[in-house]
Amino acid sequence: MHHRVVIVGAGSAGISVAARLRRAGEEDIALIDPARLHYYQPLWTLVGAGVEPLAASRRPQSRVVPAGVRWLQDAVVDIDAAARVVQTAGGARISYDVLVCCPGLELAWDLVPGLAEAMTTPFASSNYSPELAPKTWELVRRFRGGAALFCAPSTPIKCPGAPQKAAYLASDHWRRRGVLAKSTVTYATGAGGIFGVPEFARVLEQVVKDYGIVPRYSTELVEVDPDGRRATFETLGAGGGGREVLAYDLLHAAPPQRAPAFVRASPLAGPGPFGWVPVDRYSLRHVDYPEVFALGDVCDAPTSKTGAAIRRQAPVVVENVLAVLTSREPTSRYDGYAACPFTTGVGRMVLAEFDYSLSPHPTLPFIDTQRERYDMWLLKRYGLPRFYWQVMLRGLG
Ligand SMILES: Cc1cc2nc3c(=O)[nH]c(=O)nc-3n(C[C@H](O)[C@H](O)[C@H](O)COP(=O)(O)OP(=O)(O)OC[C@H]3O[C@@H](n4cnc5c(N)ncnc54)[C@H](O)[C@@H]3O)c2cc1C
Repeated sequence: MHHRVVIVGAGSAGISVAARLRRAGEEDIALIDPARLHYYQPLWTLVGAGVEPLAASRRPQSRVVPAGVRWLQDAVVDIDAAARVVQTAGGARISYDVLVCCPGLELAWDLVPGLAEAMTTPFASSNYSPELAPKTWELVRRFRGGAALFCAPSTPIKCPGAPQKAAYLASDHWRRRGVLAKSTVTYATGAGGIFGVPEFARVLEQVVKDYGIVPRYSTELVEVDPDGRRATFETLGAGGGGREVLAYDLLHAAPPQRAPAFVRASPLAGPGPFGWVPVDRYSLRHVDYPEVFALGDVCDAPTSKTGAAIRRQAPVVVENVLAVLTSREPTSRYDGYAACPFTTGVGRMVLAEFDYSLSPHPTLPFIDTQRERYDMWLLKRYGLPRFYWQVMLRGLG
């Protein structure tokens, strides 16, 4: 089996690229993905806050695969980049002229002993998994006070803002119910501060203060004792290495994340244990294999792993793929744009948009997004999901 373009992964990135390639007239595209359902993951934050049901975040994959694209409902198990062939679990071998690698990432629960077990208890959850996001809301709703612990690892994760959004939305609910005053809410993160862009960090530090959330920076969750409900943290950075144990009555954790196993085992993987696919940060072309492009969560572009980033990466990849297919030099460049909609409470949002320079990169004219706004909340809850399904996945924007 041969296709001019093979796309591995039909998530936000794969569908966007396939739709845009079709619109550009490319006729020989195969999209490989075993998943029956397609998720709009940004909604899981609102699922964990009891604002939206999980069902609102998913559609059958068959409805989002663009017409004219061949969907192979199968999992890639091996990539032979030298021979330009991918191998699937079902036994198919598919060769390509150009490969677009975008199978997202894998949640690495196993990297924190006890974390996966903790998720099976009635005290811990994570918005990072569709199975668990509804449970987050159950725990938040039932919480009557005590120690609530929200954590994020130091290593790259998708939507790095999501762990603190979970803390804000829960705190907002508890404040309305009079539970916040009886609670200690801690936000423990491997990052050195609340957010990397100072203009937005200032706003978020005030949000943390207003809720009375205790921030703990440069601290890594290294172990969880699910029965004793204790989380062990290790201090990072100079003078680090010390350990501290925090008890919890409610734990929300973002697990460490890494490239999917078949990518890590392939020649496309970069060095290091996480296996992110190394690309030129502007062209998104693989550093060693010129006929391979990678985008979305799996690539090592130094920006936030978000759907917003993919919206800007997809047109760049499509232009560059078309260039390679016609023996031209790929000249389209991605500027590192990413966005994080910080839901700071129910009905309030700060839209942080930025690029590789880590300075604000606003795209909405006349709107001061460096403060909490109700209209931005409406954008998050209603506008962006519609945009995703009807515009982005159809290759229209
Ligand atoms: C809680 C949460 C909140 C978020 N909030 C936001 C937000 O507010 N704004 C924002 O922009 N982004 C947000 N994101 C991030 C955003 O959802 C991701 O960055 C985006 O979905 C990544 O797209 P992707 O195509 O790289 O991967 P995915 O969309 O995850 O798709 C990967 C696809 O690859 C497939 N695949 C996996 N393995 C194989 C294989 N072996 N063979 C073939 N196919 C395979 C999977 O089935 C899947 O369909 C959030 C994410 C989470 C979890």
